Amino acid sequence: MSKGSPGYLVSTFSNRCPRCRRGRLFVESNPYRLKTNTKMHENCAVCGQPTDLEVGFYYGTAYVSYALTVAFSLATFVGWWILIGFSVQTGDRRLLWWGVANGVLLVVLQPVFMRLSRSLWLSWFVKYEPDWKNKPIEKENTERVVKEQMGNW
Ligand SMILES: [Zn+2]
Repeated sequence: MSKGSPGYLVSTFSNRCPRCRRGRLFVESNPYRLKTNTKMHENCAVCGQPTDLEVGFYYGTAYVSYALTVAFSLATFVGWWILIGFSVQTGDRRLLWWGVANGVLLVVLQPVFMRLSRSLWLSWFVKYEPDWKNKPIEKENTERVVKEQMGNW
């Protein structure tokens, strides 16, 4: 990885444009401003990549968000198992407490997952272009954009 080219994971997890890995995808930088936290820039402010490729583009993120939720729960389950442990003995409430803790974390992290799933989703359609300054935006990523329908899904 050359210097000055942000990595895939870093840029995706910080909700950056997948094409230039620099521009921010979301208007609001705080995921906990719940009214505006999924509002996206129409185009990347840095390279001009549209963020809404076609009508209903982000519909599939519901599945991504679900997969993230499952993966996260598995991770906390394993972590809990190693650090605290489980048993099936009566009176052992550790499994119950994991459920409660995990449930609370999922609710708290929901806005972060929602944004991350959009960022991931877009990154699967738009390739990284290190030379974004000189190369035009790929036609396949702009021809289906319906300006009037943006955000209407
Ligand atoms: Zn960009």
